[in-house]
Amino acid sequence: MNRQETRPSGRSARQTLAAALLLAAYVAITALPVLLAWGQGFPARPWPDELSSALAMTSLMVLAVEFALSGRFRGASSPVGIDAVMRMHQLIARPALVYLLVHPMMYTLPLAVQPWDDTRAATLALTPAATVTGMAAWVLMALLVPAAIFRDRIPYRYETWRLAHALGAAALMALAIHHALDAGRYSGAAPLGWMWWLAAALCALALVHVWVLRPWAMSRKPYLVTRLERIAPRTWTLALRAEGHPGCAFRAGQFAWIKAGSAWRFGDHPFSIASAPAQRPEIEFLIKEAGDFTGSLPDSVPPGSRVFLDAPYGHFTLEGRDGEGIMLIAGGVGFAPVLSLLRELAARGERRPVILVFGNRIAEQIVFERELRDIAAKIDLRTHFVLGEPPAGWTGISGQLDPDTLRPLLPARPEGWLYFVCGPTPMIDAVEHALDRAGVPLAQIVAERFRYDSGSPGRRERRMLAAFAAVAAANLAVALAFALRS
Ligand SMILES: Cc1cc2nc3c(=O)[nH]c(=O)nc-3n(C[C@H](O)[C@H](O)[C@H](O)COP(=O)(O)OP(=O)(O)OC[C@H]3O[C@@H](n4cnc5c(N)ncnc54)[C@H](O)[C@@H]3O)c2cc1C
Repeated sequence: MNRQETRPSGRSARQTLAAALLLAAYVAITALPVLLAWGQGFPARPWPDELSSALAMTSLMVLAVEFALSGRFRGASSPVGIDAVMRMHQLIARPALVYLLVHPMMYTLPLAVQPWDDTRAATLALTPAATVTGMAAWVLMALLVPAAIFRDRIPYRYETWRLAHALGAAALMALAIHHALDAGRYSGAAPLGWMWWLAAALCALALVHVWVLRPWAMSRKPYLVTRLERIAPRTWTLALRAEGHPGCAFRAGQFAWIKAGSAWRFGDHPFSIASAPAQRPEIEFLIKEAGDFTGSLPDSVPPGSRVFLDAPYGHFTLEGRDGEGIMLIAGGVGFAPVLSLLRELAARGERRPVILVFGNRIAEQIVFERELRDIAAKIDLRTHFVLGEPPAGWTGISGQLDPDTLRPLLPARPEGWLYFVCGPTPMIDAVEHALDRAGVPLAQIVAERFRYDSGSPGRRERRMLAAFAAVAAANLAVALAFALRS
């Protein structure tokens, strides 16, 4: 990497600022309905009724933001990473669920229509249609969020859950917005009513973007499967060639969502790109069998077939980061983006020292050994293989990628280096813990989790939870201030 091109802590400062701005924008957007309702100047009702309305309005706005976050919009995800965005998506759904569930139970006013009560200060006026949409939205919300939280325990395919989640969320938004416009004391009046119409239009646009515009764009840039090869137990390389276009312009370490067969079908899968940008229009992936799609690659992506990519995504990249040296720590198929980085470093003629620690269970899972030797001939690369179940006569390191194994492999001045970590979540947690203990600042560690639902108690997760607690507290404070305003 050309050191002149990089700024030492510029990227981490930018990331922190971007995260703070995104959180501030989130608080402002989700507080907006309550603030608009406040500005309408209606006489206050008993505080439980006002709190109930405020929580429902906040919850509906949170749902609209959830919709936007799930649309894979690069502007929202690239500054902080898609895993952080998806973790926030999971976390903020929980208070929204509670707000919506308690909403109908908190009202104290009677359900009656009294013509003289034109500001609805003494009654709740519900039409039959608003009753039905409100109840349906309540039930859907009660199903959707727990089904997502306990997804792994539900005996359905991941794709079935994802389709049900997407359709359920779209139906929930439509039902809840109808209910708000028809039954809401505040939402039924301007300017809040206009804001809900705008939110509905933006959600509809997001749907058109995800279901029509993006597949259409993908369909115009097909890729041909040129090679599918099993290179280790349950591990494959998939090579593609861009057909009639130069291929997507990605940075080493990024990932792509892959759709097999048709760009219009539902269901795609994220895979890290294992090749370097210089290898375009050829693009390579390293895939481990994990379930339905990855377990039947010869059927779903046979050589000669077409696939479609939504790419590039991810921030597991070298650009804008600096360090005295680079340590790459990979577990299993987490080697895929690390291989991309190594290939890129070799292509750039990297001058700084590079250490690779590659952990696997058994020796047969060590892949690309020859290429690693070729790369070591070009750059200052030291490679350590770690095996959980080493064969007899193994001369490498034995054990798990945990703090004890890692400590002797760290550079002499670990805090000045840059670290890229990818692999199973427990491995990433252990490595982050080890680096933490070695005094490495969090900003020097770039980790990629192949599963979003980390929930692990590392420093990053604690930061996510703190950010989430701050925005949830801000939402609640605004709702309470509104309820107690008189
Ligand atoms: C950013 C990123 C990069 C990845 N890179 C690679 C890679 O380079 N090589 C590789 O082998 N795997 C990678 N994965 C994991 C890969 O996407 C899943 O293993 C794959 O989608 C599983 O699909 P399946 O149909 O075979 O299994 P399924 O039967 O669909 O699922 C198997 C398990 O994987 C989980 N899962 C499936 N899809 C996803 C998803 N989109 N997000 C989170 N969890 C999911 C399911 O909950 C289930 O527990 C990556 C994941 C992410 C998020």
